[in-house]
Amino acid sequence: MDKKKVSGPTILCIKLLRYFTLYILYYIMIIFSGFGILYPRKKIKENIIELNNRLIYLQTGKKKFKNILLLLPHCLQYAECPYKVTFHITNCRRCGMCQLKDLIQIAEDYDFDLFIATGGTIARRIVAENKPEFIIAVACERDLFSGIRDAMPLPVYGIPNITPYGPCFNTQVPLKWVNKTLHTFCER
Ligand code: SF4
Repeated sequence: MDKKKVSGPTILCIKLLRYFTLYILYYIMIIFSGFGILYPRKKIKENIIELNNRLIYLQTGKKKFKNILLLLPHCLQYAECPYKVTFHITNCRRCGMCQLKDLIQIAEDYDFDLFIATGGTIARRIVAENKPEFIIAVACERDLFSGIRDAMPLPVYGIPNITPYGPCFNTQVPLKWVNKTLHTFCER
């Protein structure tokens, strides 16, 4: 689908809608879900992240970004991998035991920065040091939700990770979704 060009006032309205979604709608949903009892908070956060992504899509219009940053969770790395990739992704030997191999390849193909964050503080530091125009973040719903709020008004497109072995252990990334998102937002 071709994206349309968006005017300045429309962008402002969409940004305000994003604030409303993340800071007000979330709490309205919490109340109507019986404080997360009738409808789990995890699901509510998932819905809010999806809405945020749709709003970012509308907000950015035809615009594509050069300075994109892909933020990944540390639990994506194969648990028994002996190499420390948190600060130096180049330490990865691309053995294929985890998807870092594929993600590094994608980052090279599109020529953008790829970082692994071990938590919110590190993620904030990476963002402050690299000053990206656009972030694609992969994490669990909880970390995505807080990360998107922390980075406002910066556009952070959230992709929930896959947890076939339970949370925070050998997690996976929906690669097709990452590729599609890059195709939509990345200038190259
Ligand atoms: S691809 Fe292999 S070397 Fe790279 S982080 Fe995963 S397990 Fe470690």
